[in-house]
Amino acid sequence: MNRTTDAIIIGAGIIGCATAFELAKKGYRTLNIDKLPEAGYGSTSNSCALIRFFYSTWEGVAMSFEGYHYWKDWPNYLGVTDERGMAHYTERGTIMLMTEGHDHSSVIRLYDEVGVDYEVWDVDTLAQKMPIFDVHTFYPPRPVDDPSFWEDPDERLEGAVFTPQSGYVNDPLLATHNLFAAAKSVGCEFLFNSEVVEIRKEDGRTAGVTLKNGEQVDAPVVVNVAGPHSFVINRMAGVEKGMNIKTRALRHEVHHVPAPPNFNYEEKGHPVSDGDAGTYFRPEVGNKIAVGTEDPECDPREFIEDPDQFVYQVSADQFKRQVYRLARRVPDLPIPNEPAGVADMYDVSDDWIPIYDKSDLPGFYMAVGTSGNQFKNAAIAGLMMAELIDACENGRAHDADPVKVTGPYTGLTLNAGFYSRLREVNPDSTFTVRG
Ligand SMILES: Cc1cc2nc3c(=O)[nH]c(=O)nc-3n(C[C@H](O)[C@H](O)[C@H](O)COP(=O)(O)OP(=O)(O)OC[C@H]3O[C@@H](n4cnc5c(N)ncnc54)[C@H](O)[C@@H]3O)c2cc1C
Repeated sequence: MNRTTDAIIIGAGIIGCATAFELAKKGYRTLNIDKLPEAGYGSTSNSCALIRFFYSTWEGVAMSFEGYHYWKDWPNYLGVTDERGMAHYTERGTIMLMTEGHDHSSVIRLYDEVGVDYEVWDVDTLAQKMPIFDVHTFYPPRPVDDPSFWEDPDERLEGAVFTPQSGYVNDPLLATHNLFAAAKSVGCEFLFNSEVVEIRKEDGRTAGVTLKNGEQVDAPVVVNVAGPHSFVINRMAGVEKGMNIKTRALRHEVHHVPAPPNFNYEEKGHPVSDGDAGTYFRPEVGNKIAVGTEDPECDPREFIEDPDQFVYQVSADQFKRQVYRLARRVPDLPIPNEPAGVADMYDVSDDWIPIYDKSDLPGFYMAVGTSGNQFKNAAIAGLMMAELIDACENGRAHDADPVKVTGPYTGLTLNAGFYSRLREVNPDSTFTVRG
């Protein structure tokens, strides 16, 4: 006889674990199935785990502001102490540079509407707070082999928007293990080293999955939380044609470089969104700086046709792009000869806004398209998925009458319909990791 459960969750990354935890609290028996050996070993493990609020839409700002509170209240939210230790959230405050590369006036308006605290720094204040920064403007980002790349600009940045209530989580893998421990404590089950190869259907709805070893698991609910493999699972379920917004895997690298020896970036530096030069960066242990790209238009984007063939190695070209741009902002940056860092994949949607939704196949749901920006939202995304699944399984016509979730920490009303697979591409998006 097949193993049975109420809900199969494909994936045990940070969002898969949060979905299980929240569904179990509603009384569902859940089983996360992951082809990797432990929770969080997928793209979550290489996340920069930045917790910040600059998104281009009200919903993006509101959800991240709600999401932030879970990190502040992490042990309490989980209700367990993980024997491996607890992930630590560092509240350092985040700098968003004010430049043509950021629609900062819209972001400030959204901060006012949502209730996010912020300070506007003029350029002299920025220079005083971050003495290692060159505060000139480099906009627009250019290819690093463009002769004008090293030209010295005359204009200075407008300044920066600083949000004191933001920061980063030290260890995304440990954070996922914490959620895994919390999920197990409320009865969730996990199956590792097991690959889903088929979504089975019966009488026009989801019936369960088949694993690579031939075993079958039956459940009326299957949730796709497969990260960069999300499009593979959606195709397997045959639901992609019923989606207006789709997902793809995109290569993303994060490089680790030593901070200038005259400044302790680990202790005094902030996470920075530098839309002016085209990067984001944050303090890293060992007085290092971790730098990623905000995918400026001048750079090629490498979409991955087969995520199983992805090579998890940083490339010399991308290292040069990101580190040289950082070196323009931080002129004393020592540039290592050998590239160091991580290469992984974003699960990118057409408008860089996630899809938290049902599908056209009854019983099949998805939390996908997290576009390099949903680690911070894992817990609230899990709650949104649990409320949406429970409502739909109890007859709610979510497409016509979208489920709304009240954020337990902020009291903000979050409309799950915003994340619909049926939406038009959101024209307000930055079409970058900023969402
Ligand atoms: C380099 C990088 C930096 C990032 N930085 C940030 C940041 O600073 N802030 C932020 O908020 N977000 C950030 N993100 C995004 C964030 O990390 C992701 O949105 C989040 O981790 C996605 O979690 P997940 O659980 O959906 O997916 P994953 O962690 O990718 O988990 C999906 C799981 O599904 C499993 N799976 C796939 N297919 C199958 C199958 N057929 N059978 C069984 N299992 C399967 C995989 O093995 C995997 O473990 C970053 C992402 C990357 C890659």
